[in-house]
Amino acid sequence: MSRVIVIGAGITGAGIARDLSLRGVEVTLLERNAPASGATGRCHGLLHSGARYAVSDPRAAIECAKENLILKKIAPYYVEDTGGLFLAINEDEAAYGDRLLDACRRASIPMEELSCEESPNKHAVRCLSTNDAAIDPFLLTLANLYDARRNGAIIRTGAGVELIEDGRVRLDDGNKARADVIINATGHECSSLKKDTRLQVRPDKGTILVTERRVCDVVLNRMRPPSDGDIIVPSHTTSLIGTTSAPSSSTVPAREEYRMLMREAVALLPSLKGTRIIRAFSGVRPLIGSGEGRSLSRDYRLEADNGIITVAGGKLTTYRLIAEKAADMAMRLLGERGECRTREPLPNILRDAPARDILCNCEQAAGRLIEMDFLRPADLWKYNRIGFGACQGMRCAKNAGRERELLEERWKGVKPVLDDVQLRQSYLTWASYMSRLGSSK
Ligand SMILES: Cc1cc2nc3c(=O)[nH]c(=O)nc-3n(C[C@H](O)[C@H](O)[C@H](O)COP(=O)(O)OP(=O)(O)OC[C@H]3O[C@@H](n4cnc5c(N)ncnc54)[C@H](O)[C@@H]3O)c2cc1C
Repeated sequence: MSRVIVIGAGITGAGIARDLSLRGVEVTLLERNAPASGATGRCHGLLHSGARYAVSDPRAAIECAKENLILKKIAPYYVEDTGGLFLAINEDEAAYGDRLLDACRRASIPMEELSCEESPNKHAVRCLSTNDAAIDPFLLTLANLYDARRNGAIIRTGAGVELIEDGRVRLDDGNKARADVIINATGHECSSLKKDTRLQVRPDKGTILVTERRVCDVVLNRMRPPSDGDIIVPSHTTSLIGTTSAPSSSTVPAREEYRMLMREAVALLPSLKGTRIIRAFSGVRPLIGSGEGRSLSRDYRLEADNGIITVAGGKLTTYRLIAEKAADMAMRLLGERGECRTREPLPNILRDAPARDILCNCEQAAGRLIEMDFLRPADLWKYNRIGFGACQGMRCAKNAGRERELLEERWKGVKPVLDDVQLRQSYLTWASYMSRLGSSK
């Protein structure tokens, strides 16, 4: 049987592992950290309707629109079908609405005019609605991995790849593994494993703010071309305010980003004023091409060279399609046949959790995942939403046995959202907890 190694357990690598294992290929997936620890676990989880790209990139918009419908069908456990609104808050934006409506009509994206009375922003001058939704990126990734695993794939976490050479990969621990095809799905880091790739991959930082409560039950978009601070996405008990776009591979949110995002978010939803922001976080997109920030395409590319397939770019929304194309390419290189079967439903990896399983009261998060042998107990908190709610893990980190790690991670996101005086007080509290927990810092 042909063997394929997939490197990276973001949504792209997880989707590819599922696709190939459903086609009967022997797959080993190697992930340096835990699943979804790159851009996938640091995005808004917006299941795009396609409208956002309808004017600027109709091809990407059409792909999003099709995948939106497919994912709603195959992954209902992980999707919240919220719908989305585009709101204009001035006449220029209202005029852009005409172009948006026209482009959505041409791309077959559902979009309809609503009365401004129906907008959550009473100052909006125009309101259009579409079928955006929210999707949980952590659970979607795990469900793909779980399905790959039950179809024979080997999933190894904590297994970083140092080098790809002559049909083999060398791991951090010095071990080597051989395969007929190697797929590099390491996101913005893909060119460090394949230095001679012709794909021009540009790391692009995006920062997101987390609100202390859910501020709106529908996805809110600003009615203008994609720009900084133009979206609010419901995410379980919170909302996510996004985002920025700047050339950088840093995952540390900055204070200026927080200020800009708050200013724009309050313009989009005035009732947000005074809402507590509990944290900021940043992710890194692998953008393709020359230029920077918003001028770069959100498209994806695949490259096959000497038995190595490199995949970069794209969106969470289109991961299934990207995985299908990568798997088709791998099958061609292997000289094998096998139809794509990823339009079949994903398994439900959530189980009913008894009340005694509740680990975090503010999120009502429970130990609710079915058992997956590739997950390390130390990583479970992310997928159970421990530390994601209003208390940010202060109460529940202990239940998850992750006090120190959560405090360290959360401090990174809390720092940029605090004022000077409050920052000093919080630093004192944080430092005293960390010294009790034995931090080296
Ligand atoms: C701020 C932000 C907001 C976004 N919002 C949305 C959104 O709302 N909707 C949407 O559709 N898309 C969104 N996106 C885009 C989406 O997040 C990405 O397109 C998608 O997650 C990319 O997944 P990936 O698997 O290719 O990369 P990643 O998720 O980055 O996965 C790469 C994986 O490879 C692993 N890895 C790296 N190097 C090695 C190595 N040497 N050995 C082993 N493993 C390695 C990493 O640990 C990581 O787990 C957003 C992106 C950002 C940054």
